Amino acid sequence: MTGCIFCEIAARNIPARIVYEDDLAIAFEDINPQALVHILIVPRKHIATALEIGDADQALIGHLFQMGAKIAQNKGIAEKGFRLVMNTNADAGQTVFHIHLHLLGGRSMHWPPG
Ligand code: AMP
Ligand code: ZN
Repeated sequence: MTGCIFCEIAARNIPARIVYEDDLAIAFEDINPQALVHILIVPRKHIATALEIGDADQALIGHLFQMGAKIAQNKGIAEKGFRLVMNTNADAGQTVFHIHLHLLGGRSMHWPPG
């Protein structure tokens, strides 16, 4: 989608520190990391929020979680623990309206999150 920063990164029009990509999704380092490991897992398909995920997207969403878990293993944080989080709308702090999973790890985290 024109003007969407994550669509632009997926199309490689805007640079990012890409850690993995395939036909369905791309994963890159967050520009403002909140943990030692902070990677965004982004579908190539533009979906604005979790509220727009349709029936046809169910496999895609599963793929994002699998990709996040594999990257956590590759980064060596899987055994100690990690989070896969999707913020939705203002109260959750969503700032980029193209869905993405945050992979956070490499430090101990609190619950509930702030
Ligand atoms: P959210 O607040 O859940 O929508 O998350 C958006 C995330 O995208 C934030 O953690 C930002 O730091 C990150 N971000 C924004 N622009 C970029 C960019 N150009 N490259 C990498 N990460 C970005
Ligand atoms: Zn987009």
